[in-house]
Amino acid sequence: PALIRIERLSKQYRMGGEIVKALDGVTLTIDRGDFVAIIGPSGSGKSTLMNVLGCLDAPTEGEYWLDGEEVSALKDNRLAEIRNRKIGFIFQGFNLLPKLSALENVELPLIYGGLPSARRRELSVDALRKVGLEERMHHTPLELSGGQQQRVAIARALVGSPPVLLADEPTGALDTKTGREVMSLIRELNRAGHTIILITHDMDIARQAGRVVRISDGRIGEEGAAKHELQSG
Ligand code: ADP
Ligand code: ADP
Repeated sequence: PALIRIERLSKQYRMGGEIVKALDGVTLTIDRGDFVAIIGPSGSGKSTLMNVLGCLDAPTEGEYWLDGEEVSALKDNRLAEIRNRKIGFIFQGFNLLPKLSALENVELPLIYGGLPSARRRELSVDALRKVGLEERMHHTPLELSGGQQQRVAIARALVGSPPVLLADEPTGALDTKTGREVMSLIRELNRAGHTIILITHDMDIARQAGRVVRISDGRIGEEGAAKHELQSG
């Protein structure tokens, strides 16, 4: 079965007396090992879709099957538990804790997992090795370049071996060259078998994925799909 299956998913926000349909009947399947870019302009629904896919927020309507479990109607605490086990997040702004070393930042997602501290350390060093930052593990974020900070954040996303890596504009805060290096690492992780969902407004970034899904006014269409398909749903 698919790793992710969403069916007729909608998300509405109430804005004063008005209802905003941020997602409007989205259906999408993502298989294990896929590298999917979700691209769309500002206001198209990318953040809303990312929040639902990442179990940060529940949809108003529709189904969301994640790794065999229907999660669309779960309460916040149960959703948080699923999120911690199933999703590794990579953000535009890295979101590292400034007072902790790279190694301590990477260990954070493991703190609540009940693993002995030696095992946590071992897994974290392994994750830092995968992103090529083993020798910088005792540095704090401010002692690292932007690209290195993002690699620490990628190691933190990987450390718990979640089935999905969800990257939100991962190169948005980086210069072009560093952004390329980070994208090259993300492609390498996908070649090694990681499932990656990348949210971006940048076509140069999106086309590095195996699949490009366009979102516009809360509706999606796959790259190469016929125009009527893009408009239906
Ligand atoms: P994107 O990430 O592509 O810029 P968003 O998912 O943030 O798009 O927004 C999609 C639509 O939903 C926009 O019209 C936006 O104004 C609206 N929206 C997003 N979040 C909220 C919210 N919390 N309350 C009301 N409207 C929202
Ligand atoms: P750069 O990363 O500096 O753009 P590369 O030679 O790594 O240079 O890649 C050039 C382009 O080829 C990328 O922008 C991407 O679109 C594509 N590409 C390279 N490797 C892969 C890959 N493994 N999977 C998908 N696309 C790839």
